[in-house]
Amino acid sequence: VYDVLVVGGGPAGAAAAIYAARKGIRTGLVAERFGGQVMDTVGIENFISVPYTEGPKLSAALEQHVKEYGVDIITGQRAAQIRRDNHIAVALESGATLNSKSVILATGARWRELGVPGEAEYRTKGVAYCPHCDGPFFKGKKVAVIGGGNSGIEAAIDLAGIVEHVTVLEFADTLRADDVLVKKAKSLSNIDIITSAQTTEVIGDGSKVTALAYKDRHSGEQKQLALSGIFVQIGLVPNTGFLKESEIELTRFGEVIVDTKGATSMPGVFAAGDATTVPYKQIIISMGTGATAALSAFDYLIRYSSD
Ligand code: FAD
Repeated sequence: VYDVLVVGGGPAGAAAAIYAARKGIRTGLVAERFGGQVMDTVGIENFISVPYTEGPKLSAALEQHVKEYGVDIITGQRAAQIRRDNHIAVALESGATLNSKSVILATGARWRELGVPGEAEYRTKGVAYCPHCDGPFFKGKKVAVIGGGNSGIEAAIDLAGIVEHVTVLEFADTLRADDVLVKKAKSLSNIDIITSAQTTEVIGDGSKVTALAYKDRHSGEQKQLALSGIFVQIGLVPNTGFLKESEIELTRFGEVIVDTKGATSMPGVFAAGDATTVPYKQIIISMGTGATAALSAFDYLIRYSSD
């Protein structure tokens, strides 16, 4: 039986495991893949105190740091279920069950993809998902934002201050973002908004993005925009499907609802990072919330745990 079992090995999970282990308590970490989304990232320029690093390098450093403590690390395993038992039981897809007095969920999220030709090929070569992360790489260039919801319009406004020009493409006939954001976007001279536009292909020259093809859903006409960057903003999907049958409360988007201490609705279960309702999905924020969750789990253990 662990004192703290961390589910997830991204920045949130790694921070939680280190903070827990430093309290001298039995800490386990189970993850499908160490590093999480960081493994899919090329340049990282906003991890404070490190002006530039790359995903695989930061991932390796995270793993190294966790391994300096006596954390029991299990990788290549997915959690399938969480339930109350004598303690808290986390069942794995492999059939095994891990028991712990407290659990920290840090299973992260994934960006919803367009699913069009060229998207995978040009990922990190012009196709981007995070304006806070990758916006500055497109300084002075033309970009598109796909998606006219709040995150898409916020991204467009944010990018308009950095890049030369932003075209927003929305599939529906109207934008779904809040009025105040739409007004702001429309007031900026370097943002164009095209509705009823279905993105059909990411076009490139073999090494980087050069254009985007879309279909006008009214006329059926195929059109192209010449550009260097495409920010896909059609949603972030939390990796919380395995919690749906549990007593842990999720939002309608599947985010684990946490309070300011990282506590979920299930006693002894805490959560951190992109899988939760914590706003702004960033590495440094995930790490901070991972630390919060671990300290809260420790607090829980000293108050409510008998042995
Ligand atoms: P994740 O990193 O998603 O880690 C989740 C962990 O949980 C992984 O170990 C995964 O294998 C595991 N897992 C998932 N489901 C299960 C399960 N059922 N059972 C067991 N394990 C499971 N942020 C920045 O601050 N700066 C950047 O420059 C930046 N660039 C980015 C670029 C890209 C392409 C992407 C995709 C994201 C970027 N981000 C950036 C965002 C940042 O990567 C995330 O905010 C951060 O990784 C979230 O950390 P996390 O630990 O909450 O989740």
